[in-house]
Amino acid sequence: MTSCTQHQQGLVDRFGRRVKYVRLSVTDRCDFRCVYCMSEKMTFLPREQVLSLEEIGRVASVFAGLGVEKIRLTGGEPLVRRDVMQLVDYLGTLGLKDFTMTTNGSQLPRYAKALKAAGMHRLNISLDSLDAEKFHRITRKGQLQQVIDGIDAAQQAGFDQIKVNAVIMRGRNEDEVLDLVDFVRQRQIDISFIEEMPLGDVSDHGREETFCSSDEVKAMIEQRYRLEAINQQTGGPSRYFSMQDSRSKIGFISPHSHNFCGDCNRVRVTAEGRLLLCLGNEHSVDLRPILRAHPTDNKPLKQAIVDAMDLKPERHHFTTDGDVQIVRFMNMTGG
Ligand code: SAM
Ligand code: SF4
Repeated sequence: MTSCTQHQQGLVDRFGRRVKYVRLSVTDRCDFRCVYCMSEKMTFLPREQVLSLEEIGRVASVFAGLGVEKIRLTGGEPLVRRDVMQLVDYLGTLGLKDFTMTTNGSQLPRYAKALKAAGMHRLNISLDSLDAEKFHRITRKGQLQQVIDGIDAAQQAGFDQIKVNAVIMRGRNEDEVLDLVDFVRQRQIDISFIEEMPLGDVSDHGREETFCSSDEVKAMIEQRYRLEAINQQTGGPSRYFSMQDSRSKIGFISPHSHNFCGDCNRVRVTAEGRLLLCLGNEHSVDLRPILRAHPTDNKPLKQAIVDAMDLKPERHHFTTDGDVQIVRFMNMTGG
């Protein structure tokens, strides 16, 4: 396919997959240090290496012009980036079908109303434990109450599509699976249980010790609730289930046990402007030099993004044998 037809048809890779979903990391920094995501002592990027809010806005608008319908802001913690609302307000004007954010929730008491007013549709809020001490141990810095207040603030602001994300680890929080399900049922929000991914060499634990598969988590829930599969094409690694007596949905994000690469519809842009074609591979294109060499002309950026589609690999290759296959940490990639 020539680049010209690609422009007309949007973004299509060599395997015929259409890219409609972009995750933009707005910072690699965070106010937490979750044990599965970061090591205790992290070195963050020097500021000049991080895209400006305006540069991230340009990337978003070019993707939207190429047929991308869904943008998720992530990080690091997106809400610790100074003046992040300038970007959120701009993205709210792009007419996206789905505009969302993944956040640890700590800053939501301050930002929830403004996010809603800017036109954000949905929120994913990470919450791995309902026990204040355990929560602090997992996040190393987080205060549970602040996140609960954040979820309250989001519900009060009128967000009616909220999903909790929980990474389940053996020996850490696998005993809280049913408590977390009851928490979302009470609030009529959704939850996704995430398998830990081998990204970055975290100092806290060996991944093979803590890995807990989605099938195990699902079996725990089925001791109390009957789960019915929902036919929902997500283009990603999630499968969703409903319960008869609740509007809450339960998702399982299982990059190891269930291969989803065939329908993959997404790419990621790191805080430093690296366009990643696959979470589990290093294939990437550096957009930052292009953005900075052409500060007022988006054409070269657009061409680079279209050309990058040829680099999208067919599938990822994660294993759980404890090897670190990808040296990037999750806060670099954006979850
Ligand atoms: N700071 C925000 C948050 O925690 O929601 C957004 C960024 S965080 C990297 C996005 C998601 O990735 C979170 O739900 C987090 O639990 C998840 N995550 C981070 N490291 C992970 C890993 N090694 N395996 C699986 N999920 C991970
Ligand atoms: Fe921060 Fe999110 Fe990573 Fe936790 S998972 S350290 S909140 S970026």
